[in-house]
Amino acid sequence: MAISQDLLEILACPACKAKVELKPDGSALKCVECRRVYPIRDDIPVMLVDEATIEDAVEDRQQERT
Ligand SMILES: [Zn+2]
Repeated sequence: MAISQDLLEILACPACKAKVELKPDGSALKCVECRRVYPIRDDIPVMLVDEATIEDAVEDRQQERT
């Protein structure tokens, strides 16, 4: 993955300013505070509240969204 640890350190959740963590599968960044999940597209994190999904047992449905 192109998301480096250095990049992760400077990224912050735009909703609550908490730090974000790379998901284990590397597909998205998850806010440790509000649990919003920001998608990564073409190795670029999309740090937009409008694009974020709330991780709460809806993970399977995210796969179907475009
Ligand atoms: Zn947050």
